[in-house]
Amino acid sequence: MTDMMINIRIPESVERILKTLMEHGYEAYAVGGCVRDAVLGRTPNDWDITTSAKPEAVKRLFRKTIDTGIAHGTVTVMLDHTGYEVTTYRIDGEYEDGRHPKNVEFTGNLVEDLRRRDFTINAMAYNHIHGLVDAFDGIGDIRCRRIRCVGNPSDRFNEDALRILRAIRFAAGLDFEIEDETRKAVAVLAGNLRKISKERIQAELEKLLMSSHPEKLIIAYETGVSKVVFPELDRIMALGNGNDIINLLSCMEKDHYLRWAALLCMSDRKKSAHILKELRFDNKTVDMVSRLVEAAKKDIPLTLSGIRRDIYETGEDIYGHYILFMKYFAGCPVSGKRFSQNDIRMWEGYYREIIEKKQCISMKMLQINGRDLIELGVPRGGKIGEELNRLLYLVLDDPELNERDKLINIFKNHHSYNNISEEISGNNS
Ligand code: ATP
Ligand code: MG
Repeated sequence: MTDMMINIRIPESVERILKTLMEHGYEAYAVGGCVRDAVLGRTPNDWDITTSAKPEAVKRLFRKTIDTGIAHGTVTVMLDHTGYEVTTYRIDGEYEDGRHPKNVEFTGNLVEDLRRRDFTINAMAYNHIHGLVDAFDGIGDIRCRRIRCVGNPSDRFNEDALRILRAIRFAAGLDFEIEDETRKAVAVLAGNLRKISKERIQAELEKLLMSSHPEKLIIAYETGVSKVVFPELDRIMALGNGNDIINLLSCMEKDHYLRWAALLCMSDRKKSAHILKELRFDNKTVDMVSRLVEAAKKDIPLTLSGIRRDIYETGEDIYGHYILFMKYFAGCPVSGKRFSQNDIRMWEGYYREIIEKKQCISMKMLQINGRDLIELGVPRGGKIGEELNRLLYLVLDDPELNERDKLINIFKNHHSYNNISEEISGNNS
């Protein structure tokens, strides 16, 4: 397979950008991840373009552009409502915030631009005129399914330590091995990841965990990377549960909440929330995952009323995820095999029935509210919540009771009607 034989299908908008730049005398190529993915027959996430044109020239040539990172040579060209990053050929100084090096120098030489890129498979450029430009044998490494640094791995990891984690992330995404020298440098320089911001680490860990081969996470343990960026992995390995959990991950569908909950299942709600916060995850992730971790420790309910109560107590927002999680988790030795797949199917069937019948599973579905209770003489304050909660539990037990009149009657019968205010305020004091 010679380079010229490699033919890549480039989307029309990208083709238009390349053509416009070339017609005006500039060099222009699709570059990086998109070329790698296209060669592999995968659909690229996005198409990046590299060009000899300076940012000002790029801006003059296209109607709609955004100054994405003009100091670093990047202009986003908008075409058909999609943005394409067009970056001037450059030589990078030291990386600072990670996305951008501290200082960059523009160059007129494509190979210099490819040289600054992390791995050989990410350092290929392509256009229809010149075919594939592959100065560092990215194709050879794709053939051997290998992640290899461009140039000296130690130098490259010293320039930007995030590349250490990216090496593992690409190995997991592509099911590649990390080439020996690169892997040695990963292990030697893992500690440099301490210098990298939590946000960047989170982004790479997320891609690693959500990849097709999350079992490659084990490389992070073997090379000492997890000790620096995710010590929970070292803890579960020491407990002897690491391999089971990694197996669990690799059979699990690619769901952000499920996979993080699986990875954190040996901790508790508080600890998992802490770990996710440290990694700067959003509040929804922290909340959902830590509650799933907690829920997974309970026994599953197998009666309709038990399930309604459980939905209310666990939260209807995560209940679907909870059942799904337990489908995978029940088969994992770590769960203690407390229930069979049959139990889970029954549980899920009942859950669906409850949802389809729109049975009351939350306070807002209860057919009586605080205002009704105030009208019935309950004083404002904590008592209202207590009363509503009591009525809700009766309804969770028996959905037939969820009618306003029935609930008012239940309330009146429970408290002797005329003495409600007295009784309740009496209780308060
Ligand atoms: P993905 O498909 O996950 O987006 P990608 O290869 O496109 O993978 P990006 O992070 O989008 O990865 O970066 C685009 C390209 O920029 C890479 O292919 C690589 O050539 C270069 N690159 C990105 N980050 C670095 C880095 N930290 N050091 C060197 N080159 C990098
Ligand atoms: Mg990309």
